[in-house]
Order: sequence, then C-alpha cells, then structure tokens
Amino acid sequence: MKIAILSRNPELYSTRRMVEAAKGRGHEIRVIDPLLCYMTIASQRPTIHYKGDELVGFDAIIPRIGASITFYGTAVVRQFEMMDVYSINESVAISRSRDKLRSLQLLARKGIGLPVTGFAHSTKYTNDLINLAGGAPLVIKLLEGTQGIGVVLAETGKAAESVIEAFRGLKENILVQEFIKEAQGADLRCFVIGEKVVAAMKRQGKEGEFRSNLHRGGNASVARLTPGERSTAVRAAKIMGLNVAGVDLLRSNHGPVVMEVNSSPGLEGIETATSKDVAAQIIEFIEKQAKPGRTRTRGKG
Ligand code: ADP
Ligand code: MG
Repeated sequence: MKIAILSRNPELYSTRRMVEAAKGRGHEIRVIDPLLCYMTIASQRPTIHYKGDELVGFDAIIPRIGASITFYGTAVVRQFEMMDVYSINESVAISRSRDKLRSLQLLARKGIGLPVTGFAHSTKYTNDLINLAGGAPLVIKLLEGTQGIGVVLAETGKAAESVIEAFRGLKENILVQEFIKEAQGADLRCFVIGEKVVAAMKRQGKEGEFRSNLHRGGNASVARLTPGERSTAVRAAKIMGLNVAGVDLLRSNHGPVVMEVNSSPGLEGIETATSKDVAAQIIEFIEKQAKPGRTRTRGKG
C-alpha cells in the first residue's frame, strides 16, 4: 500500500515509529507536512499538491494533526477524504475531539461516565456553578490547555471563585470539574485501535501533585484494566468516531470516568511503558480497513 503520514515533523518518535512499522510490513510510506499542502477545490476532481507535485495514488493517510494546526490540518484530511483516500481518523472526528465541551456532551448523551462538569461564559453566577459541580475541592481547567498546564485544583470555594474570575478576566474559556480525589494523582491512558484497547498505561503524578502528566514529572507503568475500563475506553473512542484514540480515564468511586479523548495519541510513552509495538498495530489496522469507499464521510461536514 501507499500510505502518507500527515505530520509536521518526521523526527518525532511517533512519526518515526509508524514509518518504520509501515516499511517493515512492506508498504511505501511518506511523511507529508500538512501545512505545506495546497489544494484545488472543484466539483469533479479535488487535488492536493505538495512541493510542486500532485499527490496521487495514496491508499491511506494517518493524520497526526497537532492542536495548533487543527483548522488547516483537518481541511487537508477532508480533501483526502473527498479524493476517497482512507483516513484512519476522519476529519470530522478530529475536529469533534478538539472541542472539549462538545466531546463531553457527546460522551454524556451516550451514558459514558464523566466527572461532574460545569461550564459557563459569564462569571455572574460563579457561586452557583461551583455548587452545581459539587463544591470545593474542584478542578478548574482552561479549555485550550495541554500537558497539565492550566489545570488547577481549588481546595476551597473561595479559591475556586478567585481562579475562575482570574481566568475569565483573561478571556479564557474554562470548565469546572468534580475533583476525583480517590484517583490519587493517577490516570489511565488507554490506547484504542478499532474496537480494542491495544495497550494501557497508568500515569502517576510525582509526590504531592494531582496531575499525572508526564510533562509535569509523572511516571508511567503498564496498567491492567478491568473489563469495565476497557469497554468504557472503546465506547468513548467509538462515540467520538475515532479509530485510533488515546482515552484518558480516572478511577473514581463511581467507576471509570473519561477525562479526555485524544485523536493523535503519542506512541513514545505507551510503547516504552508497555513494550508493545503499537505502531505495527496501527499499520495492520489500515491494511484491513483501507479500501476505496471506506471513507464514511467523504469529506462531508
Ligand atoms: P491536559 O489536557 O492539560 O492534560 P487534563 O484534563 O488531562 O489536562 O488534566 C491533567 C491531569 O490532571 C490529568 O491527567 C489528571 O491526572 C488530573 N486531573 C484532571 N482532571 C481531574 C479531576 N477532575 N479529578 C482528579 N484529577 C484530575
Ligand atoms: Mg491530559
């Protein structure tokens, strides 16, 4: 097969591993920077061009669209879909997963366990919002944050109020969430491919830190999931419409709750922690799925 990875950086661990895995399985693979793609939009024959050449003959793409380039990146993915090229994650699903509020709403309507979460635009009724989320202690998050930056634990109602007002004063969108204390600074990253969790790790925050992000000094080890955790992760990915997803769960007193669903989950942490060849499993999945006509949306909305 001829596969393209849409990635800004061929040196990234995840990109390198997928190139290696694809070559190892006898495929032709090319890393394409989505920001350097340019396109023509016409009703009969949409095209994509790259460094002076037209991109033709691809059977499948693997989008690795970073949060900062979601807008243009998903347009490139959509163009491939319009050309009936199979994308392991479709553009609509990627856009969906990038919007935290939309994601939580979609998961909630299908009955997935979530921390009690509130959000508001105005700070006029902050007190009431805090009460609705169950009162302090509360976690307050910037909607646009990553790597644990912009995730704050407010121990008291007063602290929560101040943090919310400060963030809103900066015109940042936030959400307010029940603090899952019993998770004890750990979360579970479930790597889902298709209908399976192919690898899972437990990330534990460093001493005294409630955030388990590896970027905040957390460490990762292989996790043994319960059947309930497995099925929650698989269902969450499916609801988002993602074939490849990193589903982050917290172990709460009321069962597994989903924190977020990532459409471009990194391979380095999970492969290192679990010693599994996740890259090869992604390529295997493409081998089974990538056929003409398999693009569900064909670039639709
Ligand atoms: P980011 O997108 O920046 O990684 P997260 O929502 O994943 O933000 O939060 C970062 C970390 O903070 C999580 O991995 C988890 O360990 C901790 N955390 C987040 N929300 C909660 C919560 N509601 N209860 C307990 N811990 C939480
Ligand atoms: Mg996170």
